[in-house]
Amino acid sequence: MRFHVMTLFPDMVMQGLRTSILLRAEEKGLVSFEAVNIREYTDNKHGKVDDYTYGGGAGMLMQAQPVYDCWDSIQRRLPGKARVVYLTPQGKVFSQQMARDLAEEEDLILLCGHYEGIDERVLEEIVTDEISIGDYVLTGGELAAMVVIDAVSRMIPGVLGNHDSSDTESHMHGLLEYPQYSRPEEWHGKKVPPILLSGDHAKVDAWRMEQAVERTRIRRPDLYAAFMEANPDYGKPKGRKKRPRPAKDSPETG
Ligand code: SAM
Repeated sequence: MRFHVMTLFPDMVMQGLRTSILLRAEEKGLVSFEAVNIREYTDNKHGKVDDYTYGGGAGMLMQAQPVYDCWDSIQRRLPGKARVVYLTPQGKVFSQQMARDLAEEEDLILLCGHYEGIDERVLEEIVTDEISIGDYVLTGGELAAMVVIDAVSRMIPGVLGNHDSSDTESHMHGLLEYPQYSRPEEWHGKKVPPILLSGDHAKVDAWRMEQAVERTRIRRPDLYAAFMEANPDYGKPKGRKKRPRPAKDSPETG
């Protein structure tokens, strides 16, 4: 998958992406990253890309022309029409499901705003998706673009050393992940739960599932409610018949 980031700060993006797992993924040819400097596309002879907003108000706005021409130069190089994600606090809040969906694309263009944002007219023309990484305001879209690229890349088979390792993680199945422990068996007087040392894989799996559900119930009641709605029989003993409703005149109704 190829990521194309439109930004005023290409070094920030490339330095952020080319480390650790994402760097290895790029070296293996599973993903590629490019950051294209919007400033290089401005018609302004002084290299300006922003101006005052019509109607007044504080702050500068990125102008339509350099953003459009930057997008056009990227799009012309691609085999097909690519989705264009504008990172904005006004977008849909990013989720694992959205990461999974975006990971299906061959090419993805990410547009980073700065200052007060970007002239609405160019957004109307080129943007297909608007994504927010949370209900707060950043100074620019670069960190948000890196968050999206990181989460999407992890969905691509082979990017993680062991692909299974994304399968049990928080949010993959609507639950938070169970607690995990490494060596030593005892640290600061705290012992690893004995079941994890038992070697009984079925019991370990069952314990982890219970922990994941309980942790989700306590920390994210919204996710827990959705999980229970989708799995109404979760936690009920298998094969147990429902208690029959008492008949109208039975002593229990009395
Ligand atoms: N005036 C804009 C508004 O109120 O919606 C905010 C502009 S913000 C200071 C500058 C840029 O940072 C935005 O154009 C966007 O690209 C990025 N940004 C800020 N907060 C973000 C968030 N929560 N998620 C994604 N991008 C964000």
